[in-house]
Amino acid sequence: MSKRNDAKKSRELMRFLNRSLAPVTTEMSRYIYKEIWVKKKPISKVVDSAFTIYAYDKTVSKFFEDKLILAVLFGYGEDIKIKVVPEATLDKVMNRVWTDDGLSLSKRLKRAAPKVRASVKSAIRKQVKESSDIRKLTETIGDIIKKGDLPSDKLNQSIVRLSRNPALKSDVNKIKRQIALADAKNVTKSSLITSYKQFITAIEAGNDKQVAKLMRVIIDDKANSVARRIARTEISRAWTDGFFLASQEDEDIEYYKWQKVSNHIDTDVCTFHSKANLFGLGPGIYPKTAFPPLPAFPNCRCYIEEVLRGDVKNKPVKNKSFRDKEARKYLDSLPEGELKEVMGRRGFQEYKRTGNWRAMPQYKGLENPKSRFAKADIERIKSANPQ
Ligand SMILES: [Zn+2]
Repeated sequence: MSKRNDAKKSRELMRFLNRSLAPVTTEMSRYIYKEIWVKKKPISKVVDSAFTIYAYDKTVSKFFEDKLILAVLFGYGEDIKIKVVPEATLDKVMNRVWTDDGLSLSKRLKRAAPKVRASVKSAIRKQVKESSDIRKLTETIGDIIKKGDLPSDKLNQSIVRLSRNPALKSDVNKIKRQIALADAKNVTKSSLITSYKQFITAIEAGNDKQVAKLMRVIIDDKANSVARRIARTEISRAWTDGFFLASQEDEDIEYYKWQKVSNHIDTDVCTFHSKANLFGLGPGIYPKTAFPPLPAFPNCRCYIEEVLRGDVKNKPVKNKSFRDKEARKYLDSLPEGELKEVMGRRGFQEYKRTGNWRAMPQYKGLENPKSRFAKADIERIKSANPQ
C-alpha cells in the first residue's frame, strides 16, 4: 500500500550509525585497555579521557544532524541526496521540544552522556575485579607448585574456582585431564609441574586477550546501545513527521493503518494497535484524526500505512462504548499467555478485575497527529540541495 518503505530506509540509517560508531569503538577500547591494564591508570579518568579524545558524543550528535532529516524526507516520500541541512531545520531537529518529557534531542543526548559513561565505568570496574581475581588464583597456584606441594587441597580449590569462569573452561578441563592422567599412569611430579606452569601461562594470556576483547563489548553494550535506542526512536519520530506532513492534507488518503515490522516478534501494545478494530474499519485501521502516538515506546519500529479512499467501505464508528467493546473483544480473543504479555503483569490483574483495557503499559490513547515540520521546511531543504 505504501510507497514509503520505512522499515528498509530506517535500517539504512541505523546501519549508518553503526558504521560511524565502529571505528570510534575500536579506538576507544584499545586506548582503555592500554591505559587501565598496561599502564594501571585510574578507571574513571581513563574512561572520561577516552570519550573526549575520540569525540564519542560528537560522533553521535553528528549522526543526528546529518541523517535525521533524511528520515523526515523518507516519511514525506522524497528520496533526495542531501549535502546541506538549512540552519533553521537543523535547529528544529536538535533544539525544539516535541515530546511530553520536555526534552529536546540535544538535551536528551546531553542527559544520556554522563549515565553512559557511568555504566561503562562500572562494567569495567567489574571486569578489573574479575581479572584480578583470576590473577590472584593463578599466583596462588604458582606459589604452591613452586614449593612442590603436590597434590594439595588448596591447589584443587583454586582450580575449582577458576572453573567457575566460563571463559576459562577449556583450559581448566585440559589441566584436569592431565591431573587425572598423572594419577592413572604415575606420571612424574616434574612433568605434572610443567603442565601446571603451562596452564597458568595459558590462563593469564587468555585473560589478557579476553579483557582486551571485552572492552569493545562493554562500549557496544553500554554506550552504543543507548545511541542506537535514541536513534531508533528519533528516526521513527522524524519519519512519522514527514509522513503526517505529506498525508494529513492528502484527500486520497482516508485512513491510517498501524503496521508492525515483519520481524517484530514481541507481543506488546503495538500488537494491540495493529490488531484491534477500534473503529470498525478493520484491524489496526484508524481515522486520520485519532491515531495512537508513534513510536509507541523507545525502540518501537512500527510504521504507518496509508489506506486510500475506497479501500475500506465502512465508515468509522466514533463512540466510546464501541471502542471499549472492540478492545475487549480483541484482548479476550488472545490466549492467556499473550494477553499477559500485552497487558503486563499489573495491567493484566487490573483488566481481569475491572475490565480496564487502557491499563496496558505504554498505552497513550489516541491523538490527532501533527507534524513538527511544515511544507516550507521541505522546500527549504530541497532548494538548499539542488539535485
Ligand atoms: Zn511498535
